[in-house]
Amino acid sequence: MPTPEFDVAIVGGGINGVGVAQAAAAAGYRVALFEKSDLASGTSSKSSKLIHGGLRYLESYELGLVRESLIERRLLLRIAPDLVRLQQFFIPVYENMRRGPWLIRTGLSLYSILGGLREPTRFRLVPRAEWDNLDGLVTTGLRAVFRYQDAQTNDRDLARAVWQSASQLGARLFSPARVTRIRLGDASARLEYRELQQIACTDARVIVNAAGPWVNQVLENAQPEQTMRAIELVQGSHVEVSGTVSRGIYYVEAPRDGRAIFVMPWYDRTLVGTTEKRFKGDTDRVHATPAERGYLLRVLRRYFPRYADAALLDAWAGLRVLPAGEGHAFHRSRETVLHADRRPRPRILSIYGGKLTSYRATAARVLDQIRASLPAREPLADTAELPLRPAE
Ligand SMILES: Cc1cc2nc3c(=O)[nH]c(=O)nc-3n(C[C@H](O)[C@H](O)[C@H](O)COP(=O)(O)OP(=O)(O)OC[C@H]3O[C@@H](n4cnc5c(N)ncnc54)[C@H](O)[C@@H]3O)c2cc1C
Repeated sequence: MPTPEFDVAIVGGGINGVGVAQAAAAAGYRVALFEKSDLASGTSSKSSKLIHGGLRYLESYELGLVRESLIERRLLLRIAPDLVRLQQFFIPVYENMRRGPWLIRTGLSLYSILGGLREPTRFRLVPRAEWDNLDGLVTTGLRAVFRYQDAQTNDRDLARAVWQSASQLGARLFSPARVTRIRLGDASARLEYRELQQIACTDARVIVNAAGPWVNQVLENAQPEQTMRAIELVQGSHVEVSGTVSRGIYYVEAPRDGRAIFVMPWYDRTLVGTTEKRFKGDTDRVHATPAERGYLLRVLRRYFPRYADAALLDAWAGLRVLPAGEGHAFHRSRETVLHADRRPRPRILSIYGGKLTSYRATAARVLDQIRASLPAREPLADTAELPLRPAE
């Protein structure tokens, strides 16, 4: 039987796909990545742009996820200083809010412990005398303002930088190239893709399905028939408005439903998000609804009245992949799930869910699981040490 052209073929050029491409190429494998549109055109350019532990995940007791993300945050601040930067975060606490000062204090203390009590995870109270310097934040009914640090990035630029690193290690990109069919043999897989109106195919020893919200659609096109995880897609929308906040990122509670909403500087604009709404439509057509735009603008103006006349400049939405289940999406696990067609030598491994922040840790776990399907190769680099630079 001829040797497959690639060791690893990856479907999807979001942060997880490029992360796996980088890790696999660094481990010495021959890697191909297929992206149906542009790199990071899916969820990975529609996130809240935070490289963070996820303070709110403490409310659902996802301590392992928060800790892993804080470790990754520290690493990204070191290897990607031009792409990932620390920001001041402010949490104002008002009378009659669901989360009172003691709860926020407890959450921030735990966050700091999970971050190893290092300086960037410590928090402070903002003295009352400084409340008037918080970008016009409403002070009526304000009981306390907490300040801590987390990091912000440009998600699309980060994904492109990770791809640049993968490509420097020899990974090959096919884009735009939509994978239309996968046929799994015993020792390799054949992958059919549509590129420039032509159908072409290639072989790989193992396929990594990093298609984000399209993950099950990719599995539906695989033969023999594949098992898949039951998922729910949850839409999160953001709006961009004119004017900006200069002190940092504000984490406010939406008055009616208690959701945590970010108000953050985004170039010369203000970015506000996010909502959380079950999504049932066409994965290729996701947009912020008028109701979501109105909701986010109302929350913004409730806390920052100076935005009363601000122009809505853009609005967009992305889809989270969560395990299917009853109840509110917020209480569903945010852990990344890896689903293999077989163990210990998977032919196709699918990534469900995940965070932008933890892409490198996810890629390392993927590599651990597919290694048994791959020949021995000489590693070229360690992704924890490879600097990430803005793509040229
Ligand atoms: C609203 C929102 C806010 C978020 N905020 C944050 C945050 O602040 N911080 C954080 O850490 N995480 C955040 N996340 C999570 C994070 O954004 C996602 O976990 C991550 O971007 C998922 O990346 P992915 O590579 O799995 O999927 P995607 O980025 O969606 O990539 C999948 C890719 O696969 C391609 N594709 C699909 N089918 C095919 C096919 N057949 N052939 C070829 N290509 C295909 C698509 O075009 C797409 O580019 C947020 C998520 C949402 C929804």
